Amino acid sequence: MKWRVGNGSNIKVWLDSWLPGNVIPPHTSSFDPDLRFSDCIDHQCGEWRLDILQTLFSPDWASQEQDASNVVGNEVWRVVWSLDGPPKLSHFVWKACKGSLAVKGELFRRHIAADPICSGCSVTAESISHALFCCAGVQNVWGYFNCDEIISDSPLDAPFHEWLLWMANKVDRVELRRILTIAWAIWFCRNKRVYENVAADLFSCGTGYIKLVQDYRNYAGKVFKAPTCIISAATSRWVKPVAGVTKINVDAHVGLGASGGFGVVARDSQGQILWAATKKIPANWAVEDAEACSSY
Ligand SMILES: [Zn+2]
Repeated sequence: MKWRVGNGSNIKVWLDSWLPGNVIPPHTSSFDPDLRFSDCIDHQCGEWRLDILQTLFSPDWASQEQDASNVVGNEVWRVVWSLDGPPKLSHFVWKACKGSLAVKGELFRRHIAADPICSGCSVTAESISHALFCCAGVQNVWGYFNCDEIISDSPLDAPFHEWLLWMANKVDRVELRRILTIAWAIWFCRNKRVYENVAADLFSCGTGYIKLVQDYRNYAGKVFKAPTCIISAATSRWVKPVAGVTKINVDAHVGLGASGGFGVVARDSQGQILWAATKKIPANWAVEDAEACSSY
């Protein structure tokens, strides 16, 4: 008979022999005999609950999670956080890049699962790439959204962050966001199946997620409109006044949706600053009014 971790809700972390070799890891002071394996995973996101791992296991074991992030460079960071979708989408992609999604292959590598086999197809080890792109039921979804060709061309054997950089160089940002949104929907459905034993419809879920991201963008476009700053820049070089004369320069800027301000500086014939001042003003002032006011 083979031991299966399943969704982990029946496995007691400290009392059951769930690790290969019947090893029970040493517990810390936060010993809870009723703690279940499933408590170590965030079922909504399918990710490790690092807060729990770090209190339960040795620092070496828990820090593997941190080590994984070191291989993910700035370029990946830039791609992930410039998707212009909801933060949860970027969070999901970032977790995938760090290898933090709790797929069976990873559970097995960490000696948590007795085997790495995907519970969806029962054929292959479940890597992140397998769960999102290759598992039997998932391939049809990519075909449905007309992405099957680009997905099959992509480096599916590479770590996810390398796959992401490849894809970011192949498609524009709109298409990249759409592809990652579909992957996010697939991951959501996979978690529903694994942790809740619910067979979610991948096609309608993918369509729903694409709409959700679009709705977010429409909403964010209205609410988080970037302030357009109009800056009246000096175009000529500053010239010293003649001896005995104090020169006063003023400048103002006005932003839409943000406060503006003006500044005044007085200098003598040597260019030395005699005094200077700044003041905030309401954002709805015209530039000309703001500059005129700063002269007083
Ligand atoms: Zn599979």
